[in-house]
Amino acid sequence: MGNEIIKNIIYLIKCFLSIIYTTNDCCIICKNYSNENMFLCKECNSKIKRCNEPFEIKLNGFNIKAYSSLYYSGITKELISRLKYKSDFIAGEILTKIMIETLGNAHLTIELITFVPATRKNLRKRGYNQTEFLAKAIGRETNIKVVRLLRKVKETKDQIGLSGEERWLNINNSYEGINKKNIIGKSILLIDDVITTGATAFYCAKALLDKGAKEVHVLTGAKSKI
Ligand SMILES: [Zn+2]
Repeated sequence: MGNEIIKNIIYLIKCFLSIIYTTNDCCIICKNYSNENMFLCKECNSKIKRCNEPFEIKLNGFNIKAYSSLYYSGITKELISRLKYKSDFIAGEILTKIMIETLGNAHLTIELITFVPATRKNLRKRGYNQTEFLAKAIGRETNIKVVRLLRKVKETKDQIGLSGEERWLNINNSYEGINKKNIIGKSILLIDDVITTGATAFYCAKALLDKGAKEVHVLTGAKSKI
């Protein structure tokens, strides 16, 4: 427990330092001058491939609508990897801004935001959950409450390196809804960093629907192919 608190404090300090010591007139990818006021220059921004079409994840009568902001390649891959593995919260802020645009274009009615929980192993290793960072940043900008509503009940293998079918089997029923009174009757937005087969998002959304959520929409920073 003590360890968790120290890690949370280190995480907050890192967030704070990365924000006050980065000037937004320098592109974080190419380091060139940027007057775009979003830590990314015009050229790098134009290389990001936007993903505008919502899609559906279907299984066993459940039909979950999902939105991704970007395609997982080039600069997007770099931004996600920096947020996920290098505590680069400026990369996270860039992704947040783009995800909020996607959310605005989708015209959804959302009452609560939640996020895909990290495995204990990853949380120990990184000290923070990148999807929680994205959810909280989106919640702060949109004034929508962010609540932890899911927990992982099964330790699973890392999805990276598994085939599509293996990913569905690996993650099958490994999430559970918590804080049931917050879930019942609510329209919930589930945040993840990257969606690949949709298995993780599906089982998280299903866990919320099983606990009585009215509807669940998924929003991810990027959409990837295996
Ligand atoms: Zn640039």
